[in-house]
Amino acid sequence: EPLTLARKVVVLGSTGSIGLSTLSLFEQSGAPVEILALTAGRNVERLIEQALRWRPQVAVIEDEAKLEALRDGLAGTAVRAAAGAAAVSEAAAMGADWVMSAIVGAAGLAPTLAAARTGAVIALANKESLVCAGPALLAIAKASGGSVIPVDSEHSAIFQVLQPDCAHRVARLILTASGGPFRAWDKAAMRAATPEQAIAHPNWSMGAKISVDSATMMNKGLEMIEASYLFATPEDRVDVVIHPQSVIHSLVEYADGSTLAQLGPPDMRAPIACAFAWPDRLPWPAPRLDLAAYGQLTFESPDLDRFPAIGIARESLRLGGGAPTAMNAANEVAVAAFLDRRIGFLDIAAAVAGTLERMNSLGDLTAANNDDAVEAAMLVDASARRIAAEVVAQKHRR
Ligand code: NAD
Ligand code: MG
Repeated sequence: EPLTLARKVVVLGSTGSIGLSTLSLFEQSGAPVEILALTAGRNVERLIEQALRWRPQVAVIEDEAKLEALRDGLAGTAVRAAAGAAAVSEAAAMGADWVMSAIVGAAGLAPTLAAARTGAVIALANKESLVCAGPALLAIAKASGGSVIPVDSEHSAIFQVLQPDCAHRVARLILTASGGPFRAWDKAAMRAATPEQAIAHPNWSMGAKISVDSATMMNKGLEMIEASYLFATPEDRVDVVIHPQSVIHSLVEYADGSTLAQLGPPDMRAPIACAFAWPDRLPWPAPRLDLAAYGQLTFESPDLDRFPAIGIARESLRLGGGAPTAMNAANEVAVAAFLDRRIGFLDIAAAVAGTLERMNSLGDLTAANNDDAVEAAMLVDASARRIAAEVVAQKHRR
């Protein structure tokens, strides 16, 4: 029996890894979607291709220099071309039932907020917007009658096994981590690691930024904060275990010692399908889990010495206020510098720690209203980026 619920959809970041998985899922499932808007950052060729296939009302490119190319590519069609950050946010607020938030980085915050204000269901892949201004974003979505359904595979797993009536009986949220490409590397090798090596992830094919985050394990740090905000769980009840096969996507341990897990082959279309159909299930020819083919699943504890980002994120979460916001911003600056070959791999976490040390005020983001809280987060984000750029420049000169 097919899914009958027709949905008006916007895909923010349609040309990225999650955007492609989202459109692939629509294609494979034949889900009844009407796409109102597709948006991209700079990849105008792929955006044109997608717009010609899916015929949204509007295709938006953030980079205004690419508007002419977008117009040319869409000439003779009914698809409107638009450009600029404001146009991305306008597309997010077109009145869709379901908005895929899959822009990378805090650049996704404004459009995600714009979607949240319309009361749409937000399928949230863009974890950085949550780490930047999570409590305000969630409150705004709730106040507008909308909801935020996680797409990050770990959080989707927790979302699926968290029994709403027993939320107060959660002992621990246990996030699984693949360990990334450097799980078994020693520190000397990590110090010399190149962007190409960092981006070669064992189980997932993802955008460059999250691939580097997986290699430093800052991705798991961001996810600890994401989990704490999404599931109102304090820092000391969020744990991480390394599970290289990425089959168990995360677990919830209850007060009675019972632990529930969600499993599946590593394929982001699974959590996207869950966020799309929830509380129903989307019938589609998904890859199925063959446990016998795996033979065994293994687990180990993360090495906090080789992966200090986990400790930095935990400390930021414990500090609260603007600390996670500043940490996320500094990490974006440091990852960009590493991809640009201006700093080494181990400098990434060091630059984030250095930025947090140098920030004299991390700000208290609990404001009288949500808009003020967002404003405060954006100020912390901007000053963290400024300081991180200085810290990175110092490391580069060395
Ligand atoms: P990606 O780099 O492949 O894609 C990013 C998308 O955002 C692209 O469409 C790009 O054009 C667009 N974009 C970039 N900068 C922009 C800007 N300033 N304004 C507007 N659009 C912009 O990244 P991805 O791997 O698809 O990840 C997207 C988000 O989902 C990230 O927050 C990531 O952490 C999260 N996520 C990804 C995966 C995965 O498997 N790829 C898994 C879990 C979570
Ligand atoms: Mg994840």
